[in-house]
Amino acid sequence: MDEENKSNLSFMEKLTGIPSENQPAYKEQVKKEEKEQIIKQKKSKNANSRSWYGGSREDWKINEADLKNQVDNYKTLKITKSYRGIAILTISALLGFSLLLSFFGVITDPTTMFWAIIMYLPIIFFVYKGHRWAIILLMTLWTLDKGYQVIGQSGGQVEIMPIIGWFIFTPFFWRALKVENERKRINKLNRVSQVSNQFCSHCGSKIEINSKFCPHCGKNIKIIS
Ligand SMILES: [Zn+2]
Repeated sequence: MDEENKSNLSFMEKLTGIPSENQPAYKEQVKKEEKEQIIKQKKSKNANSRSWYGGSREDWKINEADLKNQVDNYKTLKITKSYRGIAILTISALLGFSLLLSFFGVITDPTTMFWAIIMYLPIIFFVYKGHRWAIILLMTLWTLDKGYQVIGQSGGQVEIMPIIGWFIFTPFFWRALKVENERKRINKLNRVSQVSNQFCSHCGSKIEINSKFCPHCGKNIKIIS
């Protein structure tokens, strides 16, 4: 509420003896503010809304709590809840669907699809095992595949569907990669804190990383952490 309205209200309050909350001007002001609030919400909703291909920018993001949950419960989350699980379910469904289409002659032929699936299977396995390189390889193959579909098939004509497909499904792989990146970062931090907490096995003094002799007792160092 702006200053002018406020002073108007307190003046009206004195004049009429009706408390501010019940003044018609106040009620109107509240209504106006509520309306503005709704417009604001609608605007921010539009900013997050689906874009031309049906996805949104939010698809590519993981909020901190979500990332922490993914990392903390990495081994216990169900396949449908963990991002690497969702990634392999997504690629499996896509491959299955492509195989089905190939039987109807919509795309390539079943033999080609069969070999494509054979190639993807070990990658899917290692993605589920949590290997970063496997996710990167999966994303690379997937992108090459879509790129080939865009420019390779229809004799100079650019296809739009593979591009849409890429934008819709790549976030599923991207989020799995982000979880692995975070796990890698945390592992590294843990390793650093371990080596900086080394003690001499003879006298128990705290010692520098990678030192060969203890500066306190002068003996050869066997690391205990
Ligand atoms: Zn020592």
